Amino acid sequence: MRVHAELRGVVQGVGFRPFVYRIALERGLSGWVLNRPDGVVLEVQGAAPEVAAFLRALASEAPSPARVEALESREIPELHGEASFEIRPSGASRATRPVVPPDLAVCEACAAEMDGPGERRYRYPFTNCTSCGPRYSIIESLPYDRPGTSMKGFTLCPDCEGEYRNPADRRFHAQPVACPACGPRLQLLSPSGAERAREEAALRGAVQSLLRGEVLALKGLGGYQLLVDAASAGAIARLRERKRREDKPFAVMFPDLETLAQVCEVPAETLAFLRSPASPILLLRRRRDPTEPSRVDPSVAPGNPRIGAFLPTTPLHRLLLGELRRPVVCTSGNLSEEPMAFQDQEALARLGGLADAFLVHDRPIVRPVDDSVLRLDSGGPTLLRRARGFAPLAQPVALAGPPVLALGAHQKNTVALLFDSQALLSQHLGDLGSVAGAALLERTVRDLLAFFRVRPEALACDLHPDYASTRLAERLAAEWSLPLHRVQHHHAHGAACAAEHGLQGPLLALAWDGAGLGSDGTTWGGEALLIEGGAFRRVGHLKPFPLPGGDRAAKEPRRSACGVAWAATGALPREARSWFPEAELDLLEGMLRRGVHCPPATSMGRLFDAVAALAGVRWQRGFEGQAAMALEFAAEGNGAAPPYGWNFNGGPVLVADPAPLLAALPEERRGGTDPGRIAARFHASLADLALAWARHAGVRDILLSGGCFQNALLADLTSRRLEGDGFRVHRHRAFPPNDGSISLGQAAVAACR
Ligand code: ZN
Ligand code: ZN
Ligand code: FE
Repeated sequence: MRVHAELRGVVQGVGFRPFVYRIALERGLSGWVLNRPDGVVLEVQGAAPEVAAFLRALASEAPSPARVEALESREIPELHGEASFEIRPSGASRATRPVVPPDLAVCEACAAEMDGPGERRYRYPFTNCTSCGPRYSIIESLPYDRPGTSMKGFTLCPDCEGEYRNPADRRFHAQPVACPACGPRLQLLSPSGAERAREEAALRGAVQSLLRGEVLALKGLGGYQLLVDAASAGAIARLRERKRREDKPFAVMFPDLETLAQVCEVPAETLAFLRSPASPILLLRRRRDPTEPSRVDPSVAPGNPRIGAFLPTTPLHRLLLGELRRPVVCTSGNLSEEPMAFQDQEALARLGGLADAFLVHDRPIVRPVDDSVLRLDSGGPTLLRRARGFAPLAQPVALAGPPVLALGAHQKNTVALLFDSQALLSQHLGDLGSVAGAALLERTVRDLLAFFRVRPEALACDLHPDYASTRLAERLAAEWSLPLHRVQHHHAHGAACAAEHGLQGPLLALAWDGAGLGSDGTTWGGEALLIEGGAFRRVGHLKPFPLPGGDRAAKEPRRSACGVAWAATGALPREARSWFPEAELDLLEGMLRRGVHCPPATSMGRLFDAVAALAGVRWQRGFEGQAAMALEFAAEGNGAAPPYGWNFNGGPVLVADPAPLLAALPEERRGGTDPGRIAARFHASLADLALAWARHAGVRDILLSGGCFQNALLADLTSRRLEGDGFRVHRHRAFPPNDGSISLGQAAVAACR
């Protein structure tokens, strides 16, 4: 019999055609396979049982980075006279649903080859094959072929050419294929760009630099990174000072699993993620009894019981850490709040003052792709930052209609394209507050549209007029004469969670975060929204409290504490006198009394800050969310604690007043209650609040979204409380609970409308 089959999913750039070739030959079948922009097409011919076995193997035995999403096959009545099975050149017909592979961490076969002294690629830092290596970060245009990648400038040597053309080789049509004779080369530069060394000497120089406690800029897979010895408090302090990043946690890359397990707890279920082709940064608990405590200095993540840990992702990282034999801090190459540098000249200009040496190579990076961050909790994995290894994999969504482009929010931003019933999210772009951030946003939008050849027919953005994303959306809508849908921030949070799980309304979204502009012009963030189709109704929210100094409160928990206390009691908390110099406190009190520079907010993030300050956990300045994290860590391990309770109004919109908490807290503090217990009681109160709002809304499906649900304890407690009462709870898994998925929600809402 002869069968024609079409496959879609992640089937290009992952060794799929050689796999097809192999399983066809194994079963003595003839025919052909070829790549099309939308997937893989093939025909096979042979004995019927062998053809059937071949089709089963296609779906079930595909190589690990591949993902078959759809397999359609039909029998062809007439037989052909082919002698064998062949891989044909790419076809260019029907350009729909192109699937672009994400970047893949070094595979075992390549790692083994790099370790073999007799191998052609012994210690070659740019080794790759069809199962691993750069993809999205080097592809300039589709279909995915070498001339459309940043490898086009490297002419294959005869040996590589042979592998590339041999269907039985694991490098058959591996587009980035390279070797020491023909591929990219390593160079060590001074901060001014002068060459210090090449290849092995460059690697040795980089190792020396790190051992001296210097900051090394490394041209990684999707951008420049900054590395320092993780054991050196001095080097970490230098990095923090130069990067202007006071105490935000740094990720740590370990040379191997053994070293990682000496520092962190590595539960069995995390292994598959650590070693996966995506190889994300995993938030792992620090061991209480580290066997070698000096390997990772606590200043890597001050006050944090977890470490963002990962294993070497590229052959270059593998070589470097193999020489170094110790963990390194590995953070994106940028100044705090700016995007990561990825172009060579730009990197030298921007990072010249940050790094003491540059380990670089001559393979251009087409687009920046940062490291992804993942956390595993009782319910499963949650992606907190979606970039390398995941972008630009598409998410199927149950929304038809014309293509929509959504530009997201302002922090941790991404861009979303919705077309052909799939949502395609850009990699994590970061904050848009800087000129470089805004420029990266526009670049990414134009890149995505050209790359996937999509013409949007509608645009979507946030309600906030001052976001760089909103301003760009307005400009593009005018330029292209397209309708612009402005989507309320927390509505977008809920809609993103609904889209991820393929849910349609009515749904209750508990959207809890730091801040988003509400439809009434005030700051929202502790919201219960009933979502249906492209519309929403606010059915519950926190009682508004004043935020003295507005946005400044986000980085000063003491300000939130003053605002929350003022709303509840009409006075400043007693502790305020120890938080502020007297003059500043007078000013603050005046502001609150007269209601100037005190915008009202219903922000859950700021309520977290306020409680952290009042409980004595953290009141000082810091990065946004730091106090909330400290409160989470303080509550962990405190077990069940009784909630404080809430005062609710009786209206159709259930407004929650934390007055009982504010009344109980000072007494607890005076009585010497452990701040951890206060934190645990606060978390329990929030689970109670979720249940009150869910009962009030009267729908069964509850969505948990917003930055507050990055807090694993809060998400777990809330889920359990709701599920115990018969509600179905949906949490973000493949997309972040934070503003990284706002673009997805905006696109979904615009599509509904
Ligand atoms: Zn490989
Ligand atoms: Zn070569
Ligand atoms: Fe948000």
